[in-house]
Amino acid sequence: MNIPSIILRNATVFDGENPILISDVDVLLENGVIKAISKPGERLFETASQELFVKGQCVMPGLIDAHFHCNSFTLDIAKIEKTHESYCSIRASQLLTETLLRGFTTVRDAAGANFGIVRAVEEGIITAPRILSSGKAISQTGGHGDLRPADELQLCGCASHGSMTIIADGEDQVRLAVREQLRAGANQIKLFVSGGVISPTDPIWMPQFSDAEITAAVQEAATRRTYVMAHAHTADASARCARLGIRSIEHGTLIDAQCAQLIAEKGSFVVPTLVIIEQLYQQIENLPAHMAAKLVPIRDQALAAVEHCSKAGVSLGFGTDLFGKFHGNENQEFVLRAKVQPNFEVLRSATSINAELINQPLLGKVKQGCIADLIIVAGNPLEDITFMNSPDESFTAIIKNGQLIKNNFKGE
Ligand SMILES: [Zn+2]
Repeated sequence: MNIPSIILRNATVFDGENPILISDVDVLLENGVIKAISKPGERLFETASQELFVKGQCVMPGLIDAHFHCNSFTLDIAKIEKTHESYCSIRASQLLTETLLRGFTTVRDAAGANFGIVRAVEEGIITAPRILSSGKAISQTGGHGDLRPADELQLCGCASHGSMTIIADGEDQVRLAVREQLRAGANQIKLFVSGGVISPTDPIWMPQFSDAEITAAVQEAATRRTYVMAHAHTADASARCARLGIRSIEHGTLIDAQCAQLIAEKGSFVVPTLVIIEQLYQQIENLPAHMAAKLVPIRDQALAAVEHCSKAGVSLGFGTDLFGKFHGNENQEFVLRAKVQPNFEVLRSATSINAELINQPLLGKVKQGCIADLIIVAGNPLEDITFMNSPDESFTAIIKNGQLIKNNFKGE
């Protein structure tokens, strides 16, 4: 596809990697790529199909959400599991368009994005962020992905699956489940290795999967030169992830100083998801009792866990994990994270660190040769991160793959 070229004139650039802004540069986008960036104060002589006079607004990398669920049209995940995938995909396409308009040009889906919707995005049939899909997340029987209530008579039968998860027990079944996801096109594999808030029968402290099962998944992912991301709340589960070669530890809400040190040594990433915890907490009186009881301790510790990781030098990604009516609050994650981290670190997490985490080195940076996924912000988010929390007003333009998705400079 021929993508018309664009020049952004008189931009102030945050490149996603350095804690500074570079003023008064021109940026040329050609065939979906950042072709050239002028020196400060100099103009590019090239011409383009379109010129945007950015007037000093901040051009920064498109945002990456490394913990997203495109099928999550309701908080009732047991219901999603039993819903036709075709319906989930139609709801997902709507949600994805809205997410792109909140500045997220890439999402890593942590359970459920089926490969049909990924293909539709790649073919440009729907307007959406690029998706890195895990296929279905893999849970043990009675684990975080097993949403059957305790009094449900139906036996698992094993290797059963819904629209978001697969149940697999034993090394062989885990290996098969991983191979199935990878065969179908999964970019990475998702496992659950500790209890979680929304699942009905597993306490948060419960270790899930044996070392042999986790190792089988890590090895199978490696055969495709990819990696495992794992849901883990407790310090024990997070430490186990780091020791067993899991690249991406999701949530990590109860990580303590010692665990953070180990994760830093092993080089795993941690992807906090503060906004879902906060959104659930605000509605705690409406939650089922088992969810409310599990939520409180992790809500109390989640910010401290980010601080421990930050101090230990752990690479912190950026995720949101929102469901149902909570979507729309995705950008609040910036403000929550900034309670314990400098603005620059939070912005780096959502751009260049997430790009590194998901093995996409050409994303998450404003740099010559990188993919032209950009947002243009009417303000300086390094100084005031609340600009990130008002995308409708503050994001003047959104560009994915060199194409303007939103352009409020029009007609000026
Ligand atoms: Zn999740």
